[in-house]
Amino acid sequence: MDEADIEGDLVSTLFTEEQIHARLAELAADVERDYAGEDILLVGVLRGAVMVMADLARAFGRHVEMDWMAISSYGSGTKSSGVVRILKDLDTDISGRHVLVVEDIIDTGLTLSWLVSNLSSRNPASVEICTLLRKPEALQMSVEVKYVGYDIPNEFVVGYGLDYAERYRNLRCIGTLAPHVYS
Ligand code: IMP
Repeated sequence: MDEADIEGDLVSTLFTEEQIHARLAELAADVERDYAGEDILLVGVLRGAVMVMADLARAFGRHVEMDWMAISSYGSGTKSSGVVRILKDLDTDISGRHVLVVEDIIDTGLTLSWLVSNLSSRNPASVEICTLLRKPEALQMSVEVKYVGYDIPNEFVVGYGLDYAERYRNLRCIGTLAPHVYS
């Protein structure tokens, strides 16, 4: 693969870098309004949420703290099973804290359901979710997602932290992969 032409592997661009930044700024404004006078701990899920976290956090005009979890979801291929193992836990004690989970994408919602119940058992003041992208199946999950950047069709997308076989995370935009990449 020509490393200089990773954007050429995309069939279409769903969201440009500018669109993503503009939407994250809107979400940050919503969060600032909802959490006025409260502290916020942003919890990012490694590795996909790195770009969303970096840009969302910098869209705030107020203090926010950041912490990270790494979890591995047992699944086959592109689908998760909801069976999750913690690879890296939070460094922060979240009891009494307002936790906002920052995600790149919610597909089935299984990973997130597990995460929310895990975090909720640690006695936080609140746990809410902010995701840049959400796929249709996630609408059926019981966990409420308070902040959603974009609802997208049921396609496999890459870029802006999202990978295919660990590639494409460093694309600035989000797009769908060309079939030749899979073959
Ligand atoms: P869920 O448990 O099915 O919601 O899985 C969510 C995780 O699956 C995300 O954090 C991603 O790592 C991965 N994922 C789901 N859909 C996509 C996609 O379209 N592109 C890249 N990764 C995806």
